Amino acid sequence: MKNIRLRVVGPEGQVKVSAPHRVPHSFINDFVQQKANWIAMQQQAIRALPAAQIADENACRVALKERVPPLIDYWQAQLGVRCNGFRVRKMHTRWGSCNIRTGWINLSLILGAAEHELLEYIVVHELVHLHERYHNAHFYSWMARMLPDWKAREAKLRALNLRFQ
Ligand SMILES: [Zn+2]
Repeated sequence: MKNIRLRVVGPEGQVKVSAPHRVPHSFINDFVQQKANWIAMQQQAIRALPAAQIADENACRVALKERVPPLIDYWQAQLGVRCNGFRVRKMHTRWGSCNIRTGWINLSLILGAAEHELLEYIVVHELVHLHERYHNAHFYSWMARMLPDWKAREAKLRALNLRFQ
């Protein structure tokens, strides 16, 4: 089993195998066959994803410039924190981040294509960090007080499958 890597990649669910040269082909074939169930499950999961929604970068930038400042104004007052500004970035693994030292938040450009309540959820999340740096009980008690349905919003955001071209 050493160093054989098996992956199922989207959107067609192709199977990719990588192995060192010294591993015989017959061994690799057996290995893949043994993993047939796992492969089928991965492929099923990929097919169950909603079709990617393709977002336009410029439209996202314009939308965020307009939509974020009122959200920050409103929610920093609710939370009693001071946010000094926001930047928009193309992020690949996160929707946002917060620099608690400078009081600035970063938002993922893709959020420009998300509906109001989902963008709001991320803005609130980042602003709560100005109270609490870590995702701990204190953090989540603020989230629950400010946005009681934040978990549903997060699930919705994850399910969106927003992409840039
Ligand atoms: Zn966070």
